[in-house]
Amino acid sequence: DVRNQTFSVGANSQHRTTNLSDRYSVKLLGVENVGKSRLISQFMTSEFLTPNDDPITITGAHQEQSVSILLDGEETELQFEQKNNPQTWQFDEDIFTTTQAFVVVYSVTDRRSFQAAARIITSLRYFCSKQSEQCRGKSLTQKAIILVANKADLARCRVVSKDDGRNLARKLDAKFIETSAAVNHNVDELLVGIVNQIRLRMRLNND
Ligand code: GDP
Repeated sequence: DVRNQTFSVGANSQHRTTNLSDRYSVKLLGVENVGKSRLISQFMTSEFLTPNDDPITITGAHQEQSVSILLDGEETELQFEQKNNPQTWQFDEDIFTTTQAFVVVYSVTDRRSFQAAARIITSLRYFCSKQSEQCRGKSLTQKAIILVANKADLARCRVVSKDDGRNLARKLDAKFIETSAAVNHNVDELLVGIVNQIRLRMRLNND
């Protein structure tokens, strides 16, 4: 079962092809203070960024950052957006259809953030099934949903176990990874996972 495996980096960034880059929208969701901004900042320093690409950053009421990732000889442009308060996201059909990957972040030091992550993924799955009904079950409606347990470096303050995270992800059909944005642990793996999940869904949708 490929869906519930933890990510691993299988990247070969040596060869660059002339493929036109595709641009995909990635939303980082989760309550405040779980490390969404810090994760995005770490993405901006990844070894998988296309050489000479200048990440574009827009900050304001919400953050928006675009980067171009070179992975397995293929370029993929990702546009990251994050908002602290999931309640303020208008999860309307438009946002749902124009977003290719949802990265739902909690902190292993904050159980409330874990519970909020569960609620967010449940509502995303509701949208998936609603759209899937409209499209007669076509995989077109399946989105990449990745549950991220951040702040794994804070071992002594941990209140959410890795098993809790993994079980929740399995239950809600999401991928799972533990990261530390502070010490850059598994952050590239997360980035690679996002790109691979998006490419996988795109291939499924084109079948
Ligand atoms: P956001 O509100 O979800 O965007 O959270 P931020 O990215 O602003 O992070 C909130 C606080 O947690 C900041 O002080 C970060 O430096 C800190 N932080 C973020 N990620 C980590 C992490 O992985 N480990 C530790 N120890 N601190 C982190």
